[in-house]
Amino acid sequence: MTEYTVKAYKDHLMNEELVGVECKSCGHLMLPPRPLCNKCGSMDLGWRQYMGKGAVAAKTVITVPLTRFQDRCPYGVVIVTLDEGVSISGLLLDENIDVGSRVEAAYVKEEDGVVLAFKAA
Ligand SMILES: [Zn+2]
Repeated sequence: MTEYTVKAYKDHLMNEELVGVECKSCGHLMLPPRPLCNKCGSMDLGWRQYMGKGAVAAKTVITVPLTRFQDRCPYGVVIVTLDEGVSISGLLLDENIDVGSRVEAAYVKEEDGVVLAFKAA
């Protein structure tokens, strides 16, 4: 049985794939994956790959960073609504991106894995 875990999600990121979960009962999309649908409670789920393209829904600039991102500081974080209709946060790679801008996923390699980021599309 496939486990819909954050670890599995991160393994997909290593392959530059943005993958979440789709509920087979109600069609609800979840990203990152969850073991059960947070809308209807069903455990009848399947993997769903996303194109990684969407529009910026919110943007913030972090000035007190996590230790691992200290050398990037200040850095932007965006919440992106993907074309498939699900939202996810990621690092912002282009400063001239604002709310409403079209972006696409980028995969930033860090010591312990890959971090999801977004750049201008
Ligand atoms: Zn559901």
